[in-house]
Amino acid sequence: MTVDAPQTSSDNNPGDLQLYAKAKKVYPQSVKGRFRNFKWAFMIFALGLYYFLPFVRWDRGPNAPDQAVLIDFPARRFYFFFIEIWPQEIYYLTGLLILAALTLFLMNALAGRVWCGYMCFQTVWTDLFMLVERWIEGDRRERIKADKQPMTLPRVGKLISKHIVWLLIAWWTGGAWVLYFADAPTLVEELAFGQAPMVAYVWIGILTATTYIMAGHMREQVCVYMCPWPRIQAALTDEWALNVTYRKDRGEPRGSLKKMKARAEEGLPAGDCVDCGQCVAVCPTGIDIRDGAQLACIQCGLCIDACDNVMEKIGKPRGLVDYDTDINIQRHLEGKDSVYRFIRPRTIIYIVMISLVSGLMLYTLANRQLVDLNVLHDRNPLFVTLSDGSIRNGYTIRLINKASTHRDFEMSLVGVPEGFSMKAVGIESDDPRSMVIPIDQDITKELRVQVFAPPQADLDKSQSIGFNVRDTETGEAQLVTDYFKAP
Ligand code: SF4
Ligand code: SF4
Repeated sequence: MTVDAPQTSSDNNPGDLQLYAKAKKVYPQSVKGRFRNFKWAFMIFALGLYYFLPFVRWDRGPNAPDQAVLIDFPARRFYFFFIEIWPQEIYYLTGLLILAALTLFLMNALAGRVWCGYMCFQTVWTDLFMLVERWIEGDRRERIKADKQPMTLPRVGKLISKHIVWLLIAWWTGGAWVLYFADAPTLVEELAFGQAPMVAYVWIGILTATTYIMAGHMREQVCVYMCPWPRIQAALTDEWALNVTYRKDRGEPRGSLKKMKARAEEGLPAGDCVDCGQCVAVCPTGIDIRDGAQLACIQCGLCIDACDNVMEKIGKPRGLVDYDTDINIQRHLEGKDSVYRFIRPRTIIYIVMISLVSGLMLYTLANRQLVDLNVLHDRNPLFVTLSDGSIRNGYTIRLINKASTHRDFEMSLVGVPEGFSMKAVGIESDDPRSMVIPIDQDITKELRVQVFAPPQADLDKSQSIGFNVRDTETGEAQLVTDYFKAP
């Protein structure tokens, strides 16, 4: 039995145009093969990583959280193993997003929708939900048969069990998500005793619902109707990208094994496709790859496994359905050999851009400073002339200690003539041009600083002034320049 592709309004007669295409239920059949094995392996890896990563510990010293991956909203920090990102360093996130987009483009240039078929969250969770469905309700044949028969008590029991397991997986998915935003063991305990913050329950509820609906009920409809990537991908791809394809030159004319044998014996053309429908039966989106490239094809490769199994059984070479390029489809029809071109301008551009962005990010990470200094000149007034003729400028100075230990910083004036001095509210110092600022670990300290130019100083309206901070122990320093304003 074959299952039709999801219907669209264009499938209808022009006079019977419908804006809503009713979803047709797809009953994907289990299959064994190399692509299926790869999908299982990736699913175990991805889900294992997602569910257990919050429990991995990473020692950052006595005053910092020890969760390896943590998005700490109250402290406004993102921790990823040895990396700690502050709000001022949000450009790292921009870099990561650019890298992700470029990697997706590169994957697309090499092997089409390989992301959709193997790595997308929707695919991974749908695969898991289908596995549960198969375990409880049976494979395709049993499910189709059961759906056609009247409801019985055992069937109701199976359906209830399936939805309970689906909901448990969905709940665990939402539960794992919130663990990335707080200390995981503590939050698990709070959740168990109903003492977690309300926002945690709300997010678990939202993710439980979306996972259950999208992976359990909507499945291929998310890929076909909701996701923008197939449309973007279609605009980005070219004829050299590998896609799951049916080799028409080999497969046609198709027909049952008996019919094809008879045709061959009569000396008539006989294709390798025995029209068994296995490639359609295993397809998670319910389409027939023999109809050519389709938006609904997520390129999961399961039809390749199905067809290879059939070919092996009937003693024909594998690869009637396989990853191949549009160029080769045409070449095969013309009786020519396959050609592949993985190194071409677009793949080179993507690789160069990925290398540049990753190199830049690694360089900035390796040279990341654990002290940060911001200087903001007062706008109103820009300067004040005091009764003795000296000029005063005010600044707001923000000093950030990104280390996990208390530090003493010496802040000094640089690049200004003799006689300049400074004072900071709440800090005592014997030296008029420098002061020591103690600052606790992992915090930002804001200071009101006043800089004075002596009377009769030869001043321009605006001259450069430098503030230098230096860790008294490690010597790590940062210099920021601003302006000193005068009449
Ligand atoms: S046609 Fe093949 S590759 Fe495409 S979604 Fe169906 S099984 Fe996967
Ligand atoms: S599985 Fe292979 S042989 Fe069977 S219908 Fe599909 S393409 Fe033809």
